[in-house]
Amino acid sequence: MRSSSNSKAVAAAGRKKKGEAAAWPWWGFLLVGGCFGGGSGGGGGGGGARGKKVRPRGGGVGQQLRRLSFTDLTGASDQDLSVSLVGSNLHVFSVAELRAATRGFVSGNFLGEGGFGPVYKGFVDDGVKPGLKPQAIAVKLWDPEGAQGHKEWLAEVIFLGQLRHPNLVKLVGYCCEDEHRLLVYEYMEHRSLENHLFKQIPAVLPWSTRLNIAVGAAKGLAFLHDAEKPVIYRDFKASNILLDSDYKAKLSDFGLAKDGPEGDDTHVSTRVMGTHGYAAPEYIMTGHLTAKSDVYSFGVVLLEILTGRHAVDKTRPNREQSLVEYARPCLRDPLRLARIMDPAMEGRYSPAAAREAAAVAYRCLSGSAKNRPDMSAVVDALEPLLAATDDVPVGPVVLFAAPEADAEEEKEKQREKDGRQRQRQRQRATRKVDEQQHHRHGRRRLRTSPPKESPRKLGACRNEEFWVWHLPADHKA
Ligand code: AMP
Repeated sequence: MRSSSNSKAVAAAGRKKKGEAAAWPWWGFLLVGGCFGGGSGGGGGGGGARGKKVRPRGGGVGQQLRRLSFTDLTGASDQDLSVSLVGSNLHVFSVAELRAATRGFVSGNFLGEGGFGPVYKGFVDDGVKPGLKPQAIAVKLWDPEGAQGHKEWLAEVIFLGQLRHPNLVKLVGYCCEDEHRLLVYEYMEHRSLENHLFKQIPAVLPWSTRLNIAVGAAKGLAFLHDAEKPVIYRDFKASNILLDSDYKAKLSDFGLAKDGPEGDDTHVSTRVMGTHGYAAPEYIMTGHLTAKSDVYSFGVVLLEILTGRHAVDKTRPNREQSLVEYARPCLRDPLRLARIMDPAMEGRYSPAAAREAAAVAYRCLSGSAKNRPDMSAVVDALEPLLAATDDVPVGPVVLFAAPEADAEEEKEKQREKDGRQRQRQRQRATRKVDEQQHHRHGRRRLRTSPPKESPRKLGACRNEEFWVWHLPADHKA
């Protein structure tokens, strides 16, 4: 069953991209398999793949496959099929292994929660999987009652499973067992840019770090856009930029990513999805998605980095609630720019570099998509600014209340955990795992229907407003 599913998918992919094998990059192998067991053959979900590292199939050296697109897979598989990623160094975990790795999803390991579900810190080594290097991981647990579904899980596995770049978060593996969908990432010590920028946890981000983050995130987007088979990220925002122990920026959360237009197509038509305040105006109006939509979102985040203000902030006076409307007119005037720069930096930034960065943001936020630069041009414009530190005023030696940083972070974690709704969701998700495990061992299944496929992202997160605007059927993704 499994291999026939695989061959079906490969055949489907082959039909689409016949003759392109020679150009396929080293990382690209993807086969559709019976993640749900395809009914009879797989039984317990992960099937034969569970507990193993997926390995390249067929093809020896030089016979490497082009990245498969999301549509290759969704078109080839059916409700009862999911994916096996092959040749991408992904590990296939079982629920039991991830439970052990996170000490039973203990609340002390809770890292945060987004639209997909709660995220827990864990640790794995080659005792869990042969060949697995000892490392901290972040395990994202699908909340069946939550806002997102199997489709986002699949998008994350398909895109992140195949794409490797220093500025994309690394997907270590996944779990697809019965109705459970978990994702296993490298652990990003400093969590999201959003935490640092707006909650100033653990401290105010210094100018050089902000610039570094902007450059890293720009490189991540440029990599996606310039790929042989381009990817449009579609949900670029501060909360999706994670920071490692060196504050290196990595993009995470590919749930909304789309394969870019190919051939003569100028755009892909989708139903409009994204986060309020970050999406490009023409995409909202038409549903036509291009790489320039990401460029606009990058401009919004760059504005956030410069000003320390949220893309949308309902707590501010009316005329200041939309950051783009409020700040864009100030970007080309040095005096006005100085007034909107993040006061938390207390003037400790390079005015010359800030002006250059503001000019980049201005162009990215152009109302006309064609006037926005490509992401590679953005990288070229921002990267040299990292060297411009001569005119950065020297402030107090200690910028941060470092000794209290951990305590502050702990307090914030506590506040997050206290949110009643989030806690309920978390408990539900965790309980589901428990119940499913229990019933599986008892050879009973709680639910036979597959996980829901279509995302309903409204109200995904306390401070995020996901919105879905249905276009006519022929415009839908
Ligand atoms: P998300 O569902 O991706 O929005 O993640 C929710 C929260 O979990 C984020 O804001 C982070 O605080 C945390 N988180 C997600 N992925 C990771 C990771 N790879 N490493 C550390 N923390 C993470």
